[in-house]
Amino acid sequence: MTQVYNFDVVILGGGPAGLSSAMYAARGNVSTAVIDINPFGGQPSNYMVLENYPGSINSGGFELMETFEQQADLFGVKKFPMQEILSIDLISDPKVILTTEARFNAKTVILATGAQAKKLGVKGEEEFTGRGVSYCAVCDGAFYKDKIVTVVGGGNSAIEEAMYLARFASKLYIVHRRNELRADKILQDRLKTFSNIEIIYNSVVKEIIGETNVTKVLLLNTITNETSELQTDGVFPYIGLIPNVEGFSGQIKQDAMGFIYTDETLKTSVDGVYAAGDVRVTPLRQVITAASDGAISAVYAVKYLESVKEKVL
Ligand code: NAP
Repeated sequence: MTQVYNFDVVILGGGPAGLSSAMYAARGNVSTAVIDINPFGGQPSNYMVLENYPGSINSGGFELMETFEQQADLFGVKKFPMQEILSIDLISDPKVILTTEARFNAKTVILATGAQAKKLGVKGEEEFTGRGVSYCAVCDGAFYKDKIVTVVGGGNSAIEEAMYLARFASKLYIVHRRNELRADKILQDRLKTFSNIEIIYNSVVKEIIGETNVTKVLLLNTITNETSELQTDGVFPYIGLIPNVEGFSGQIKQDAMGFIYTDETLKTSVDGVYAAGDVRVTPLRQVITAASDGAISAVYAVKYLESVKEKVL
């Protein structure tokens, strides 16, 4: 028989937003659960070093997220990692999350499911994923020792990951569609210290080519419209994020990309449903903003629970 749980707050996602909201909700003395389809920690678990999380100088991403989790543990948060989610109903009362193992009835839900790497959507990308195409420099960087690597994109992720990969690669190309990078100035300055990194501006990857593994990419110059081939052993696309909204997309108000709209209390368009971190429409996606969102969403979820209780009494 399916196990049934009843919680005041159920948080979907165990990254920095989810774990912070869990801690704040549990400290607000309401029963709190966190559910994730993966192990806890979210995206930062894959970062070698986080150098801009205040109060923690150059902490490893994995280690930092472990402390987030331990801190949530201190307040009695119930954790459900590695769940296979069958359905999510944010509209019903209570809200219901059904997994292969259990039914979670929730008075409030905080959506902290984060975002994932956007795909290039070109020929060869899917075929060579795991055979030269990777979205995780920390996971796969060591495979590219003394090899040629191509990073696609011009934002903070592309530049940070390029600098990480350049420690292994003999040569690293950054292919960027415009003539200037989007990344923060401090990262751009640091990039200049790498003698094995070359930026190819005004270019996009049109195709990823290989046999067993990737051997080259086809580039299109966005100014001249000319195509050229670039020899490479690996392709790491870092061209932005798409929100993880599978299972509940359409039940709340979202933007064209699927990111969730919230008000300043991080309430979504549905009563009792809040969103925190990268999954929501926000001007900045950082661990610190995710953690801050976690705090705000949980405090207002607890206030919502109190207001509902008052109405019933
Ligand atoms: P991003 O800031 O949105 O940058 C995406 C980059 O990919 C841009 O340079 C964009 O070009 C390019 N791009 C987008 N679609 C493309 C396509 N179809 N083909 C080729 N190029 C394409 O994404 P991100 O770098 O993944 O960062 C996501 C968020 O996390 C940002 O808010 C970022 O600041 C934050 N972040 C912060 C840090 C840090 O502070 N240390 C580290 C990592 C990420 P254009 O420039 O022409 O638009």
